[in-house]
Amino acid sequence: MKGVINNATTDPNKILPMTYHWARQYYKDGVANNWVPEEVPMQQDIELWKRQGSGALSEDERRMIFYNLGFFSTAESLTANNIVLAIYRHLTNPECRQYLLRQAYEEAVHTDTFIYCCDSLGLNPDEVYNMYHTIKSIKQKDDFVVDMTKSVLDPTFSTQGTKNIQRFVHDLVGYYVIMEGIFFYAGFAMMLSLLRQNKMVGIGEQFQFILRDETVHLAFGSDLINTIVKENPEIWTEDFQKIITQNIKQGVELEDQYARDCLPRGILGLRPDTISQYLQYIADRRLERIGLQKLYGASTPFPWMSEIIDLKKEKNFFETRVTEYQTSGNLDWE
Ligand code: FE
Ligand code: MN
Repeated sequence: MKGVINNATTDPNKILPMTYHWARQYYKDGVANNWVPEEVPMQQDIELWKRQGSGALSEDERRMIFYNLGFFSTAESLTANNIVLAIYRHLTNPECRQYLLRQAYEEAVHTDTFIYCCDSLGLNPDEVYNMYHTIKSIKQKDDFVVDMTKSVLDPTFSTQGTKNIQRFVHDLVGYYVIMEGIFFYAGFAMMLSLLRQNKMVGIGEQFQFILRDETVHLAFGSDLINTIVKENPEIWTEDFQKIITQNIKQGVELEDQYARDCLPRGILGLRPDTISQYLQYIADRRLERIGLQKLYGASTPFPWMSEIIDLKKEKNFFETRVTEYQTSGNLDWE
C-alpha cells in the first residue's frame, strides 16, 4: 500500500529514499526564508504610534493596526497548535513531518513577532491577547476554524476509511486554505498598504516576512490536499466538493466582515469594497489550487500584493529595509 496517509509501510524515522519531493522542497524554501523579528528595527513605528498632532496616525489607521495585531497575535498560536496537536499525529510520512516541524518553528517566529510588536509599541497585552474573545469579527473567524477542524483534534479520530479521509481533508482545508489562505489576507493587504505609504514600516516589513512564510504554508497544505485526493479519488465526490466550496465561501464572508470592522470607513488607498474584491480574487485562486471551480471571477485590485508575494528577499540581514530581492520562478505564490 502506498500513500501519504494510511500507509502501513511508512516508517516515520526513515526519510530516505523519499517519495514526496515537493514536501522536501517546501522545507528548503522555508529554510531559505529564515528571519527573526528582531532584525527589523521598530524605532520609526514607535515614534509614529506615539506621535500626536501633525503627521500622526488617524483614528481609523490606529484602529486598523490594532485590530490586525489583535487577530494575528493569537491566530499564529492557534495555527501552531493545530499543526503540532492535530495534523502531525496523522501525517506519518517523514518528509511531510520534516516540513511540519519547520512550519511549526515559523509559527513560533510569527508568535514572537507579535510579542515584539506589543513590547515595542507598549500595548496592553491583556487587551491585545483578549481580542479574539472581545471583538466579535475576530472571534467569529477563530470559532469558525476551531469548529471546522475539530474532527482531527478528537483523540479517537483515525484517517481509516473514506468518511474519515474526507474529514481529514475537510479539516486540512480549514487549517490551510481558510485560516492561512483567506483569514490572513485582509490583514496582509491592510498592513502592506500602510507600508506602501511609509507608515508603520517595521510592522509592515514583519508582515511581509510573515506573508512570504504563509504562502509556503499554503502551498504545502494545497499539495498535501491534492496528493491525498489523487491517492484516494473516491473521497472527491460532488457532494464533498460542494461542502468544501461552501466552507471557503463562508470563510470569505467572515473575512469580509472582519475587514469592514477593522476599516469601517476606508483610509487613503484602501476601501472596504476593494478589500472584498481582493478576497474574492484570492478565494478563486485557492479554489483552483485544490482543483475546485472558482466562484467569483474577480480581478485583483491590488496588483502590488502579487509583486510583494512574487519577490524573494535575498538573505542579507544587514539590510535594514526589505529592498533586496531576487525573483523566484518556480512557485505559484498567490
Ligand atoms: Fe504564521
Ligand atoms: Mn502559517
